[in-house]
Amino acid sequence: MSSTADVVIIGGGIIGSSIAFNLLQDGFKGRVLVVERDPSYQFASSALAMGGVRQQFMSSVNIRMVQYSVSVFEQFPDCQFRQRGYLFLANEANWKKLQRRFEIQKSLGAECTQLTVADIRKLVPELRCDDLVGGLLGPKDGYVDPRAALRFFRKKAEELGATYISDEVQKIEKGAIHGTKSGRIATDRVVIASGAFSAAVAERAGVQLPITPVRQQLFRCTLPRLWAYEFPVVIDPGGVHWRSDWNNEIVIAKTKPDELPGVRFGCDIERFYEDFLPDLVRRLPEFCDLKLVFGWGGLYEMTPDHNGIIDRHPEMDWLYFAAGFSGHGLMMSPATGKLMSELIRTGRFQTVDASPLSFSRFRRNELFWDEAMI
Ligand SMILES: Cc1cc2nc3c(=O)[nH]c(=O)nc-3n(C[C@H](O)[C@H](O)[C@H](O)COP(=O)(O)OP(=O)(O)OC[C@H]3O[C@@H](n4cnc5c(N)ncnc54)[C@H](O)[C@@H]3O)c2cc1C
Repeated sequence: MSSTADVVIIGGGIIGSSIAFNLLQDGFKGRVLVVERDPSYQFASSALAMGGVRQQFMSSVNIRMVQYSVSVFEQFPDCQFRQRGYLFLANEANWKKLQRRFEIQKSLGAECTQLTVADIRKLVPELRCDDLVGGLLGPKDGYVDPRAALRFFRKKAEELGATYISDEVQKIEKGAIHGTKSGRIATDRVVIASGAFSAAVAERAGVQLPITPVRQQLFRCTLPRLWAYEFPVVIDPGGVHWRSDWNNEIVIAKTKPDELPGVRFGCDIERFYEDFLPDLVRRLPEFCDLKLVFGWGGLYEMTPDHNGIIDRHPEMDWLYFAAGFSGHGLMMSPATGKLMSELIRTGRFQTVDASPLSFSRFRRNELFWDEAMI
């Protein structure tokens, strides 16, 4: 194997693969090498995600990135993008906040509709709506199959000429990276796209990257009867949310606000019964007969303001970051790949102004908040 590359991408998950794909698709002529330590992707967030895709954010950069990503997912059936909608339910407690969000989202160009309770009943007739006052729907939103989308971007990148090697990067310096098996690989540019492990990887270049791994748990259940339609992604005001999966199943999530940071996988089955199920049954009574099939945990890659980092290091101009998406990186991956391709090839963003997602905002202590996080 050649021990030089023009760009080395550390991490072959959906972000790293999308960067490789976009670079080559955009005409980059150099050698693109993706170093992935685990080609089975057993612990990769991309493979463990829920797959939700929504334009409903509160900042222009996030909305525009997902809009771009939606247009890409729509083009490629291999990602199995189901545009079933993203439905936030509102009760008295969160309605004002959601209405404010609606106004801001509309003013920023997000596709989003305000629903009455009667509209909600038409979409999901089995919901208990007596405590609801309305909702917000992103009609073009929905979910992809995360593994299918990951496979798609990797396959496309490889077809266009990216090389993937199975190795762990141990050290990063100007002009080279060092892998456990491959030894020194000379390169002009290094991209850190290592998901929840990005801070550990950046440390190998002597750089502090504020990204912390935090476990998120998901459960898959079989529906109590053959359901006649696919659910949108439904977000209950209490936080539990679900989407349809294949084989008459649903995938369910509920973020645990006090989950301790750290690298932990697996799930707590009792959490399903004690924390998820009561809320689910309250919202949709037939869910009392859901059959739990499988639960798992994967890592969110949290930054202090829960937004991603898409940037080049201000002093080490050969080092790039595409990480820290804090639980919404899958839906941002097509846009992130495109923006990184632009930054690497031309030195600036063209498709979306991603400057709010700079690396140095943390150094300046100017965090970038977007209230629409689940
Ligand atoms: C349970 C769960 C649900 C989620 N739901 C959603 C959702 O609904 N919508 C959404 O948009 N996002 C969701 N996310 C977030 C999304 O999965 C991530 O933001 C996204 O997958 C990040 O992609 P990535 O390629 O950066 O990271 P990863 O997929 O984790 O890939 C990083 C890769 O880097 C490799 N790596 C690490 N260190 C090294 C090293 N030293 N050398 C070589 N390789 C290395 C790892 O092996 C890994 O494969 C969810 C995440 C989880 C865990």
